[in-house]
Amino acid sequence: MARYTGPSCKLCRREGVKLYLKGDRCYSDKCALARRPYAPGQHGHNKKKLTNYGLQLREKQKAKRIYGVLESQFRRYYEEAERQKGITGENLLRLLELRLDNVIFRLGFASSRAEARQLVRHGHFTVNGKKVNIPSYQVRVNDEIAVREKSRSSEKFKALMQVETNVPKWLTVDKENMVGRVVSLPQREDIDIPVNETLIVELYSK
Ligand code: SF4
Repeated sequence: MARYTGPSCKLCRREGVKLYLKGDRCYSDKCALARRPYAPGQHGHNKKKLTNYGLQLREKQKAKRIYGVLESQFRRYYEEAERQKGITGENLLRLLELRLDNVIFRLGFASSRAEARQLVRHGHFTVNGKKVNIPSYQVRVNDEIAVREKSRSSEKFKALMQVETNVPKWLTVDKENMVGRVVSLPQREDIDIPVNETLIVELYSK
């Protein structure tokens, strides 16, 4: 599946909020948004008042960028969210949260979603004991996600396990054994991303 390969920090500067796309750097004073808190480009300093459509578009772009999903795949998530029972916006965020790369990041097995995606692609994880190398794989309640046996001794994972992680309450983690579990579905209040999903639904329902 295709992914965005351009400069990540420009995306945060465009949205005017930290999207935490670069792991440790995002928490340091090297963060580009902290240094240059205006949009990229020649007219970046000129702040325009956004139209309703502009606001809706920005929320969608933010969500896509946070989860590293391109338009066609994002629209498929939206269509799936619409088919499900419940509130479409919340269903959409839940589907995105349940991507394997996001779960790896949430468990603290990677420092960013981009890194998680790469580590999944390289086959470092198992779900319920079986190797899974598809970043968009949807995990389910009770799934056990683990670092593969032969990857556990790598310095990379050893270092990642030393970092304290705020694991959301729908997941549990045992860093010593490099294993995590999905204990429930994420609810809206568990998803701490700066996105107003209602505006995304308004945009797509036009
Ligand atoms: Fe965004 Fe992180 Fe770059 Fe800061 S360092 S602008 S939060 S990607």
